[in-house]
This record gives sequence, structure tokens and C-alpha cells, in this order.
Amino acid sequence: MRLIAARWVVPVSAPPIADGAVAVDGGGRIAWVGPRADAPAGDVEELGDAILLPGLVNAHTHLELTTMRGLLEDADFFAWIRTLTRARAEVLTDDDLRDAARLGVLEGLAAGVTTYADTSASGAPLDALLECGARGIVYQEVFGPDAAQRDDAMRGLRERVAALRARATPLVRVGVSPHAVYSVHEELLLDACAFALGAGLPVAMHVSESAAEIAFLREGTGPFADFLRGRGIAVGRRAHSPVHLLAELGIAATARPLLIHGVRFDDSDVQLAAHYDCPVAHCPASNAKLGHGVAPLRALLDAGVRVGLGTDSVASNNRLDLLDEARTAVLQQRGALARADALSAAEAVALATIGGARALGLDAEVGTLEVGKAADLAAWRLDGPRGVGADDPAAALAFALAGRPAAHVEVAGRVLVRDGGPPHPDAAAILARGDAAARGVSDWRRAAGGGR
Ligand SMILES: [Zn+2]
Repeated sequence: MRLIAARWVVPVSAPPIADGAVAVDGGGRIAWVGPRADAPAGDVEELGDAILLPGLVNAHTHLELTTMRGLLEDADFFAWIRTLTRARAEVLTDDDLRDAARLGVLEGLAAGVTTYADTSASGAPLDALLECGARGIVYQEVFGPDAAQRDDAMRGLRERVAALRARATPLVRVGVSPHAVYSVHEELLLDACAFALGAGLPVAMHVSESAAEIAFLREGTGPFADFLRGRGIAVGRRAHSPVHLLAELGIAATARPLLIHGVRFDDSDVQLAAHYDCPVAHCPASNAKLGHGVAPLRALLDAGVRVGLGTDSVASNNRLDLLDEARTAVLQQRGALARADALSAAEAVALATIGGARALGLDAEVGTLEVGKAADLAAWRLDGPRGVGADDPAAALAFALAGRPAAHVEVAGRVLVRDGGPPHPDAAAILARGDAAARGVSDWRRAAGGGR
């Protein structure tokens, strides 16, 4: 039995414990949580002046895009997503995508993220998560806005999912992600969700991220509509919003997809998400950086919707730091609602841990420090400049320590970060390869005539 002791232990499911400890058994599960004075005997790992809490759950990433940091600063959303899609298809090799995914997992681990809900076209994140010892769900993306693409897209999806499932483990699972309403034809959306349901796989989908997406669906206008019409694809007024469409098609009630973003949710979208128990991945930094707005997080929580926090990719963030998302979420809600009680630090820490776990259906396994759950742990030191005055560990995490590297990280009892060290023995080489791939994308962007 290992005993990990710290000045503060934050179980999330119970009040913070001063001078606490967590016991981890040989199977990588939490065997005991409480004041260290009452702890069972074991080999003590002393974290000292630190806060120990459940490993963070990142409810939305695109790890294969980690070499696109800084590539598309200040672009409007349509240009941003077009360039990104072209870069992924035209420039990045399979090796580049693998290096990018590894880079992303290492960055996340260094920031205390132990679980990743990733949507990818390449599947590379599954290998990166396995290789780095992290936990996650890798949702295989499917695209095809033209009805004529339906059969080919479904064939590709089935093949890719079969290849991923052959490599999946209890730690890293597989899901399906029809990308968005403007990039997936309705017939393909139905087929992909039926396939996922039949295979027992979770579904995730980008919804209500931008004004352009709402204009496309509600009015049949805007840049997405113009782009598709330019390709000879018919576009018309279709539904009030993506969630209304998912409800109408029966997808909300059956597949209960993870709704990524929800920035443009109105009251009816919030009520539908609650009614059908569709969880939401809230990505406050990405939504703000791309100029989309602030999602109605308070309203979602008040309606009883399961919500987790996501970073989205570094192309729109530019960090994979979930404590930073917790801080951004609190500041945005308090700023937007002009209420100091709009979201508490403790709620933000809960969103970053058990909130994400519930949204992903992994809450029986991770998200809190409770006996029987997997020992997915993260700790931050308090003896640096931002640690002084840490009488309230939740406030210290959400307001002061956000953006700081984690000192200790483990997944299922396997220590991945020790004493703030690198999360992988080959971290320097992975960083160098990722850097080379990033330079290649930048060169392509410059050659293609992009200014910034
Ligand atoms: Zn995304």
C-alpha cells in the first residue's frame, strides 16, 4: 500500500482535508482517504506543502492538432476552420499527427490532466494516450456534408473504428464523432449515430459554437451555407438549432451525444439538453478566443445538465491547461452575469474533475477521491510565489495556481509526473519532433499566402 500525503487533500466529493492522505492499493485503486493521523500503514510519499486532488478531466481536445498552436491567430471562424482542415489534410503526415498527439498528452499531463475526451480524424491520439499511460475516450470523427458522401463516409468510419477498437483498452476507449451540422449531412448523421448505438460507443458532436452555424441551420444563410452551395450542395432552412435537430431526429433521446461548446444555446436548448440528459463540454477559453461568446454555463448547471470543461485544441486556445479553463469559466460567468456568486471556485474545481467524469460517463471510475475509484491523482505545490495564502484550496486552485504545472500526476496508480519532472522519458525528443512539424505547418501557411 502506498500512502500519498499532502498539506491539503481535496476529495471533491467531500470537504477539503487539512494534512490529509490518500492510500493507493497494488491494483491502482484508492483504498482510503482521510486525515494522515488516521491513515493506515504504508509506504509514505510526502508531497508536503501541496494540494492533492483527483486528476483533471479534459472533456474536449483535438490532440492531433497540437502542432497548430499560433498558426491562425485572429482569423474569423470560417477561415480558421477551412485553413485548419486543409493543413491537416495537405501538410501533416501520419507521423506529424502522431507527434502532435504525443505532444498534446505530455502538455496535458504536465498540467495535471489525466483523462482526455478527444475528437480526431486520424486516431493518432489513441496511441499517444496508450503510450503515455493516460486515460481517455478517442472519438473517431466523420465528415461528409454532401448526401453523395454518405456510403463512403460510413465505410471509412466503420473501418477506422474497427482499427481503433482493436487497440483500445479499459483505460483508453473509443467513441464516434459526427463533426458538426454544417460538415455532416443529416442522413450521415443518422447513420453514424445508429452505428455508434449499435456498437455501444459514446457519441460527441460540436454544436452551437458559432453564429455562422446557427445562421446555416436556422436560415440557410452565412459562410457555411455559401460554401456548400458553391460545391453544389443544397442548403435550406432546417431547424431552430443543432440541439433541436438532434431532438427531432431522435438522436438526443437515444445516443445522448456529448454536446461540445453550446455557446449559442438559448433557453430552449438548455431545456432540451436537460430533458434528454445530453452532457455538455464547455470550452470557455476557446469560445472567447475565437470570438464566439460565453456559453450559458450557470443556466446549464441550474437545469441539471452534466457539464465538463474542455480546452479544445491549441489552435484555438493556445493551452491544454484545465485549471486555466476552470479559472476562465469562473471569471466569464461572474463577468457576464455581474454576480460574484455566479460560479464558485469549488464548483469550478468540481467541473474540472467530477463534472467532466460525469459528462463522459466515467464517474464510477474517476473524478473524485473515493474508495474503490481508480487512483488518478494530481497535485500542485503551494510553496511557490502563487501558493502563499492558500487557506481555501479550491480558491487557490481556480484563481492562483491555474496555469502552473502540476508537481505530481498519476493514472490508475502509475506515477507519470514526479517532483514536477517530465511526464515521459522521451519528452525532449517528442518536443523536438513536434516543433519540427509545427515549423512545417507554418512554412506551408506562409507559402499559401497567409500573412499572420
Ligand atoms: Zn473541437
